[in-house]
Amino acid sequence: MSLIVHKYGGTSMGSIERIQNVAKRVAKWHRAGHQVVVVPSAMAGETNRLLGLAAEISETPDRRELDMLAATGEQASSALLALALQAEGVAARSYTGWQVPVITDSAYTKARIKSIDGTRIMHDLDQNKVVIVTGFQGIDEQGHITTLGRGGSDTSAVAIAAALKADECLIFTDVDGVYTTDPRVEPKARRLDKISFEEMLEMASLGSKVLQIRSVEFAGKYNVPLRVLSSLTAPDIPVEQERVSGTLITIEEQLKMEAAIVSGIAFSRDEAKITVLGVPDTPGVAFSILEPIAKANIDVDMIIQNQSVDGTTDFSFTVKRQDRQQAVQILDKELKVNTKTILSEENACKVSIVGIGMHSHAGVASKMFKTLADEGVNIQMISTSEIKTSVLIEDKYMELAVRALHNAFGLDKEDVVSIED
Ligand code: ADP
Ligand code: ASP
Ligand code: MG
Repeated sequence: MSLIVHKYGGTSMGSIERIQNVAKRVAKWHRAGHQVVVVPSAMAGETNRLLGLAAEISETPDRRELDMLAATGEQASSALLALALQAEGVAARSYTGWQVPVITDSAYTKARIKSIDGTRIMHDLDQNKVVIVTGFQGIDEQGHITTLGRGGSDTSAVAIAAALKADECLIFTDVDGVYTTDPRVEPKARRLDKISFEEMLEMASLGSKVLQIRSVEFAGKYNVPLRVLSSLTAPDIPVEQERVSGTLITIEEQLKMEAAIVSGIAFSRDEAKITVLGVPDTPGVAFSILEPIAKANIDVDMIIQNQSVDGTTDFSFTVKRQDRQQAVQILDKELKVNTKTILSEENACKVSIVGIGMHSHAGVASKMFKTLADEGVNIQMISTSEIKTSVLIEDKYMELAVRALHNAFGLDKEDVVSIED
């Protein structure tokens, strides 16, 4: 007997029929003798619908109340799943985050989990019940309901798996695993049987929303065996077949030594570029531009500063699109250096190649740049780490760039491709 955590995303919970299918799948695991904890998302579209209602009332809604509101989506889907399981003849009980409790900090709309009390869950499991715990939410130490950021049910599931020392955490979703890139953008994308935590972390943080970043961090930190697999297959496929399907997120050593140089391509449309023109090329300029931005809790991603010819230079950086306006307002008000103009653009996107094999191979980045040049795509900014290279480009070229790079690095083929031309 194993203790398994299942997570089902919004599409998987998207209708009563789908919820009944989830119940059938969970019942199958339960009947096979496993203890199962299920973490559902809200039904597809529900979180957006709720946040949309709030936006109709206020442009700057109180974040505490947003969490109060958004958390209801998962409460409803969890209760419906419990009812569907009971209709399957399986004893099931659902809990909200605060009933468990899942304790978080107080950062409304992007709270982080601090601890989870597994007592109540274990008690029910020992009575042969399936336990359902709402994804995406918790409660802070003052008793206020919090949510974990969009896509946060992945993190709830992995954190619960870590707290219960579960044997596995299975993330059931609307694709049958992690692909070399988003299959919606590149139909030739290939499913990976395995991917390392490091690569998955980069893919997630660079825009692949198949897993929320925090969930991968948690799984790596607490050694939770994590698998992404489809919830849309026939619910009665044998458990033994299902538990080896999809993509395993695993530690590097378990991957084949001949692992591909580039394992995947991630992209994010959620970028905005801000440029401060004509700032003096003197010590402290980067600090004086970025300090007020950091103080406002705005994350800065890529940064570029050119060398000066006449003693002044241009300084550019990127932020999330939703933060652009606020960042510009802050600079308008608080920038202490002389500048001619502050420009900002929303039509930027970031495309990244990711792979643990990259750090030991020269020429990967230049192959990326050549591929983009051949397609006539202008690179505005570049950033690199050991296992990734990212470029900022105009967003109208995003799909073209993803497909060209996917092809150039041979990601649609099984075999490892040389980086030499
Ligand atoms: P869920 O509702 O189950 O949490 P999400 O919509 O959050 O599902 O994540 C699954 C989606 O992630 C897929 O439908 C796919 O379009 C997208 N995606 C982005 N990058 C990848 C990738 N590299 N591999 C698989 N799916 C990806
Ligand atoms: N329902 C939440 C969202 O839409 C959490 C999740 O689905 O993971 O972001
Ligand atoms: Mg998701």
